[in-house]
Amino acid sequence: MNPPQNPGAELLIACPSCHTPLRLAAPGMGSLEGSVVWSDGYRFSPLMPVPPRIYRCPGCGGIAWVNSSPTLGYLLPDTERTEENAEWFAAPPVGILDEAGLLEALSLAQEPEAELELRVASWWRSNDLCRVSPPVTAPPRSDAALENLRRIVDLTADGDETLLLFRAEALRHLGRFDEVAETLQGVYCSDFAPAKSKQLEWASQKDNRLYKLFEALELGFAEDSEETTENPPPGDSSGAGSFFPGTLSSET
Ligand SMILES: [Zn+2]
Repeated sequence: MNPPQNPGAELLIACPSCHTPLRLAAPGMGSLEGSVVWSDGYRFSPLMPVPPRIYRCPGCGGIAWVNSSPTLGYLLPDTERTEENAEWFAAPPVGILDEAGLLEALSLAQEPEAELELRVASWWRSNDLCRVSPPVTAPPRSDAALENLRRIVDLTADGDETLLLFRAEALRHLGRFDEVAETLQGVYCSDFAPAKSKQLEWASQKDNRLYKLFEALELGFAEDSEETTENPPPGDSSGAGSFFPGTLSSET
């Protein structure tokens, strides 16, 4: 079943544990206009919200990947309520996982890629408290959040250039400023040069705050820029933002 491309379409899934029907926004077309990328790689696109890929079921309290949940169908904005689909209309929305919930979900990460996705998502939720520009203070960190950051540093040690940018940011948030420059030696593609030079500057100033990295204007979005988001399997960090200012894409 291919997802519809209508804005406002909803996906109906069943919780794999208790089979409760649940609804969430269907991945669809959107515009990247107005997007902002933060220094932790998180991209906020007001006209293209990224649906959750993992959720808490309000029926049984369990956590499940959207991709591991059977698809029941789609509700379009103009779908009419009938006797057959009444249960769908009554379905509750999936529960959104917070910082702690995403760490709780680690038991569902079979592969290192899925573990990294959940750990980065949890880090983003803790950073959400400080998404202001210019920055005021560094995001507060619990012991669990610090351990999460250290694990992100370990998991990205041998990663590609995008992962090394995540690693440099995590090191900076941990106050390990000397290691930021060391890690960024592995980033040489000119596309990443603006992100790299900003990271080096903040690290040299021993600044561990979250910054707005790129805004829509710097990204050079065309008025009609559009992209399709699919629901990729766990471990694919689509929607993870990008450190590449030219062709901001959800593919990483
Ligand atoms: Zn359930």
